[in-house]
Amino acid sequence: MFITASAFQFAEEVDRSATPPAEKRAENNRNMETKKIGLAIHGGAGTIDRSKMTRDKEREYRGGLERALNAGYEILNRGGSSLDATEAAVRVLEDDPHFNAGRGSVFTSAGTNEMDASIMDGKTVRAGAVGSVKHIKNPIGLARLVMEKSPHVMLDCAGAEAFAKANGIDLVDQKYFFTKERWDALQRIKAAEKHRTSGVGKILVITDQDRHGTVGAVALDKGGNMAAATSTGGTTNKLPGRIGDTPVIGAGTYANNQTCAVSCTGDGEYFIRAAAAHEVSALMKYRGMTLQDAAQTALDSVKQLGGTGGLIAIDRNGDIALPFNTNGMYRGYVDPNGKFVVEIYR
Ligand code: ASP
Repeated sequence: MFITASAFQFAEEVDRSATPPAEKRAENNRNMETKKIGLAIHGGAGTIDRSKMTRDKEREYRGGLERALNAGYEILNRGGSSLDATEAAVRVLEDDPHFNAGRGSVFTSAGTNEMDASIMDGKTVRAGAVGSVKHIKNPIGLARLVMEKSPHVMLDCAGAEAFAKANGIDLVDQKYFFTKERWDALQRIKAAEKHRTSGVGKILVITDQDRHGTVGAVALDKGGNMAAATSTGGTTNKLPGRIGDTPVIGAGTYANNQTCAVSCTGDGEYFIRAAAAHEVSALMKYRGMTLQDAAQTALDSVKQLGGTGGLIAIDRNGDIALPFNTNGMYRGYVDPNGKFVVEIYR
């Protein structure tokens, strides 16, 4: 005998009405509790020189990463969405002056701070992004607003800031983003450039630390939904108006419940050309690769073009990949067993 769809529906309805609502709620909660959650974050990849890293400095970096993990994990653990968790984790890192996003953003060649950010919801495959914003304390929050309150995916410069104002976000003075470390890094790069073109002056070694950094988060929530969020001040001494991979969906950020969620960091121009974040998803979808293999292969394609950096990715099983081709990447994760890990070096 065939059971028709309507018979199934009827059977379900009978079943549902037979279960008292309180019991049903408890059952749902039990289901939620058995669902896997996972979170990974990064605070930029590069040549992280151990000899220049004091104990205090390392503690501060680790502390920032731990606070970001805690903020995101607390949301996931109580059944919140991966979207909320990634936004919360990135906000913590944007507020921390050690990281190149929000408050600690690097300087452009004109001595200004211009920030990019994006967020993507793997469930709906909706996304929001902002480019070259100068007065937004938490660009990731504005990226989310673009996704949720505008018909667009990306807004930049003055238009993005007008949209922020119209939606109740206060603009902050550029002074808020000033850090002496980032300012000094700009001066070092300018001096090195001068030397390169004139041949006069002492040779200065420019580290990746001077040049870039970025923050990001990927998460899997109890509903099985994934999200990715990335935020950056970009690269030191970039031309005003330069937009990197961070707000480009498919380059610096991508999330799709069918495959994975990805957030990248590194030489943005190369990540854009390699469509790196989407590449991870595509390799899983079309080549059937595991998350680990897909993440490494996508990063290798960035390297083949000449780009350095790293990425973080999570899949629907809560598996996490954190490949990088530099000697360090500020990173951390909480795996589905609730294990917290924070690492910097290889
Ligand atoms: N990807 C960022 C950009 O190019 C910088 C970084 O991650 O270091 O703007």
